Amino acid sequence: MSETGVANTLEELKALDREARMLEYVASALSWDQETGMPERAVEERSEQRALLQSLAHKRDTAPRVGELLSELESHNGLGAVDAAFLREKRRQYDQRTRLPDTLVRDLAETASRAQNAWMHARQDDDFNAFKPWLSRLIELNRDAADHLGYEQIRYDALLDQYEPYATTTEVARVFDQLRQGLVPLVQKIAAAEQVDTSFLRRSYDPERQRAYSDQLMVALGYELDRGRLDLSAHPFTTKLGTHDVRITTRFSEHAPESGIFSTVHETGHALYELGTGEELSGTLLSDGTSLGIHESQSRMLENMIGRSRAFWTYQLPVLRRYFPEQLKDVDLERFYRGINHVEPSLIRVEADEVTYSLHVILRFEIEQALISGDLSVADLPGAWREKMKDFLGIEPDSDARGVLQDVHWSMGAFGYFPTYALGNLYAAQFLRVMERDFPDAWDSIAQGDCSGVVAWSRDRVHQYGKMKSASELVQDIAGGPLDPSVFLEYLTEKYEDIYGG
Ligand code: ZN
Repeated sequence: MSETGVANTLEELKALDREARMLEYVASALSWDQETGMPERAVEERSEQRALLQSLAHKRDTAPRVGELLSELESHNGLGAVDAAFLREKRRQYDQRTRLPDTLVRDLAETASRAQNAWMHARQDDDFNAFKPWLSRLIELNRDAADHLGYEQIRYDALLDQYEPYATTTEVARVFDQLRQGLVPLVQKIAAAEQVDTSFLRRSYDPERQRAYSDQLMVALGYELDRGRLDLSAHPFTTKLGTHDVRITTRFSEHAPESGIFSTVHETGHALYELGTGEELSGTLLSDGTSLGIHESQSRMLENMIGRSRAFWTYQLPVLRRYFPEQLKDVDLERFYRGINHVEPSLIRVEADEVTYSLHVILRFEIEQALISGDLSVADLPGAWREKMKDFLGIEPDSDARGVLQDVHWSMGAFGYFPTYALGNLYAAQFLRVMERDFPDAWDSIAQGDCSGVVAWSRDRVHQYGKMKSASELVQDIAGGPLDPSVFLEYLTEKYEDIYGG
């Protein structure tokens, strides 16, 4: 193919990709609206609208013409770095989306939609048996999907790869085993130590004032208000509506201000990632985060490692006190810092602290692998859950509602998603260590209320690449080695020995 031929073929492929991305952004706008302000009775029609847009995007991504263009371009060497990455990721997307038969995709979507409804009722009534047939069916469909998608060794690989591209079950299992062996004794040690005081966090904090505080907080973290906005929703989330429109939501609870504060910080971390991808990737499939694990690394580094640090609150506590002078009048930096870093084994993953959180995730990873492989039957699931909770965290759920039924993921048919949450912690710790080395004044700047250097570092080393680099390439390039859970364990040990008296 001539140079002009290559350029034209690339242009055509990029145009098809761009149309699909634009359709997805429109679908995201409708989803955002649905979660934040849509009138209740619009729900059915809205589902139809979203499904239509998604199928239009899907048609563009799976058009036979895309396959032809890919094949033509793949025989050509000498593309620039961005175009080569575009081609690699477009091929990956095309294969994934064309390998699943339409009937299976429809069956999965319909089953998941009805299963979610069944799950909601089952959780309400604490009735695992009512959810069992749905879960069994979703597991079968996921096995079927994995077989169509293809894998080398373990069926679960194909599912994991949808959320954490290029990761393997064997590697994640190895890393998680090491992580679990370090976390369990650390949690036990903390549980045996004198507990920190959190009583001041249970006072009354007016949600309106919390909102006003969050508005300035996200700006202090580098979130640009002409490229996003903050709204309220039942479950906090970040959504991308375009290159310059990445929105976040949060929620406020009167007697738990830390919930709203750290949800806002967490989602701001996700938003900064999406807003920080390079201009030349804009509107292409390369402009999204490279994996859910790397996404979580950006939200968790900001939320836990920066946002729950002494340095951060050296500046922010006096600011927060201006909003809540009465509630915080007897709370100094040390009391506040310890309170927001309180560790306690608990039943619910989304309420878990920084130390116990990954154990909730490892439990789910081990269980869903066993469900997919058939080593664990759905009937034995609640028992397996309770046993692992006891082993990992030393507590047992008082009900299935607060145990195996607590998360929405499986009812959505999402298997392979959970591990990305804990992978995020591990990536974040490795990145943080390098940032501290590259930028020795980082903590001093943060203590003076200036987070711009931290954000600039993340943009430079992580955000700008979008999907150009895979998660493992990022870790290799930044940390100079593979994923290593010992860095996160060291970070936790140092921080929490200080808080809990060593
Ligand atoms: Zn997140």
